[in-house]
Amino acid sequence: MDRSRNRVLIVGAGPVGLCLALKLAKEGVASLLIEQLADENFLDQVPRAGTNHPATLEMYDDIGLYQKLEPRGIIAPLFHYWDREKTELIAEFDHVHLRNDTPFPFALQCERIKIVEEALKMAKAHPLIEVRMATNFTGFTQDADGVTAFVENEASEHEGLPGRYIVSAEGARSIVRKECGIEFEGFTYPDRTLNIEVAYDFRRHGYTDRNYISDPEEWSNLFHWKGPPERWRVHFPTKPDEDPDVLMAPEAMQKRLQGFLRTGRPFEIIGCNLYTVHQRVAQKFRSGRAIVAGDSAHVNSPIGGMGLNSGVHDAFNLAEKLARIWRKEADEAALDHYERQRRHIAVQHTQLQTIRNKKLLQEKDPVVRQRNHDELRRAASDPKLAREFLLKSSLITSIREAARIE
Ligand SMILES: Cc1cc2nc3c(=O)[nH]c(=O)nc-3n(C[C@H](O)[C@H](O)[C@H](O)COP(=O)(O)OP(=O)(O)OC[C@H]3O[C@@H](n4cnc5c(N)ncnc54)[C@H](O)[C@@H]3O)c2cc1C
Repeated sequence: MDRSRNRVLIVGAGPVGLCLALKLAKEGVASLLIEQLADENFLDQVPRAGTNHPATLEMYDDIGLYQKLEPRGIIAPLFHYWDREKTELIAEFDHVHLRNDTPFPFALQCERIKIVEEALKMAKAHPLIEVRMATNFTGFTQDADGVTAFVENEASEHEGLPGRYIVSAEGARSIVRKECGIEFEGFTYPDRTLNIEVAYDFRRHGYTDRNYISDPEEWSNLFHWKGPPERWRVHFPTKPDEDPDVLMAPEAMQKRLQGFLRTGRPFEIIGCNLYTVHQRVAQKFRSGRAIVAGDSAHVNSPIGGMGLNSGVHDAFNLAEKLARIWRKEADEAALDHYERQRRHIAVQHTQLQTIRNKKLLQEKDPVVRQRNHDELRRAASDPKLAREFLLKSSLITSIREAARIE
């Protein structure tokens, strides 16, 4: 085979595309990474959270990324459920219960932008990874021997780039998925989520680094992120028809924050954004030599921090299959195995759990609320139940279940 074709084309240098390239390189497989953003604006992306769960930390460690991220993040062994109506801590979960299940019995609070910054540096330095920045992917073709990706490069020229397989790690708007005619099945929530970033240490009020706060009127999430500048993100639901300019007016955000926690002094607001939440899974994860992974394959509510994590798990699963195909230890049936394992996890774990998480926080029925809170209290106070709860929330259960799928 022509040497330039004997590589995997990866569209998108997000966490999923970068982890895939780094894991393939570790297995000796070459890749070409195509990213539309340029070096100059790569770090100007909309802030997105990054609660990284234990199973994902093990994968980062495998490719040498964990060591780069740990100093830039917060090690968070605990997370809390709060009842906002009563201003009461319902349950505290401690990852210490996973000490025999993982070498990383904690979550690492490290934002997506730091992950891609560090992973991109590593990818650029690796001889088996070619990175094309400022290159916009526009479409592709495939035949029995390989694929050709069409791009508009940094010099605004149109080029066709050859490879053996193409992986779409382009995010939710995947062109590959659309060109393959793969349905993105699911729904979009009518309400949007408002994220406000503030410089204020909520720990003095008993909160920990990760907090899920239920309320029949206005649920919240509250997360701590390492500086500089040191900051906390507070998420609030908004009504479907509310005007974004009104929602994000400084006085409106201040009022919302004071409603959440009356401090008597204005909060220092350092950023905000509004986002729409989708719950969708691609009907297929593969069409011939084209494969979807990460947000191209599935999107979900960020409550519980599962999107980025399950996308990285796709990348590792897929890299192992492609490496076996390269070494001639497996044929293309291995890619159907990827689809069977990872699509099952997307539908049966990530979707169900994230939909349940949102329902739990916004529950209005007082009887159901009470029952939910009692269950959380019982799970947190019994070590066996706590371990089971944490195995699920930290995605270890989903990895173990995928491994059992033939
Ligand atoms: C507010 C918010 C908070 C979140 N919090 C969490 C959390 O705590 N934990 C968690 O697990 N998940 C979280 N998520 C979800 C998480 O951000 C995504 O699941 C994750 O970023 C998906 O990674 P990805 O690599 O698949 O896609 P992306 O991160 O979307 O990356 C796609 C890349 O492809 C590039 N690209 C797109 N189109 C093209 C093209 N045509 N040509 C070339 N390049 C292209 C983009 O520029 C980008 O670099 C959150 C999401 C939001 C919106």
